[in-house]
Amino acid sequence: MAEEVRYCRIRHGGHVRRGIVEGEVVRLIAGEFTAPGETIAEIPLAAAELVAPVAPSKIVCVGLNYRAHAAEMGHQLPAEPVLFLKPPTTCIGPGATIVRPAASRRVDHEAELAVVIGRRIRLATPEAAAAAILGYTCANDVTARDLQARDGQWTRAKSFDTFCPLGPWIAAGIDPADLSIEAFVNGERRQASRTSDLIFGPCELVSFVSHVMTLEPHDVILTGTPAGVGPLEAGDEVEIRIEGIGSLVNPVA
Ligand code: MG
Repeated sequence: MAEEVRYCRIRHGGHVRRGIVEGEVVRLIAGEFTAPGETIAEIPLAAAELVAPVAPSKIVCVGLNYRAHAAEMGHQLPAEPVLFLKPPTTCIGPGATIVRPAASRRVDHEAELAVVIGRRIRLATPEAAAAAILGYTCANDVTARDLQARDGQWTRAKSFDTFCPLGPWIAAGIDPADLSIEAFVNGERRQASRTSDLIFGPCELVSFVSHVMTLEPHDVILTGTPAGVGPLEAGDEVEIRIEGIGSLVNPVA
């Protein structure tokens, strides 16, 4: 494994800047995450206004991808991943508000491990896919469950503005094979699993998606959610916590 590095973006002086989290400090960089160039400034992490760590051209998501969740739902294990998309306008960062749309009466959290792509790939083998992964972050695949059932397909249910919190940063150089993944609502644990229960792992998924569409740098793949999805109400605070990455907290309005 490569050295562990945490890449973030923060709002600073009216601009969104890239940075590298080093202990309790964010070092703002002039260049790209993997070619940082000179340091612009160093600011305390506690004072940093983190935004979504990337601005993806697309967010590719996978349905049912945890064995226990598939069993719980009475589904057979899928032979290949079932894909859907969320538009980039769903992305928000840590601390930003998830807005329940007037059109829905049931909005659910879905804790997910997110894969962030580092370089353009197409028709990639799992090995090439592994080399193209920049790192991992926490995601919440917020879903209007009633509209998902009513529409018969998922575009509207998955695509409202604010329906894809990402963050708090991208953890690079970590092994994603067996990490705890949890969701908390108002401090109460609602989802708890491990990424070792994934049916299709990150490299396999990235390879699969790359045989459908070209993946661009900073595109995001959501790897599916474990059992325990549930509703979010106005005034709630939802937290997605993944071992080795960190904690993504968002209020709900
Ligand atoms: Mg999902």
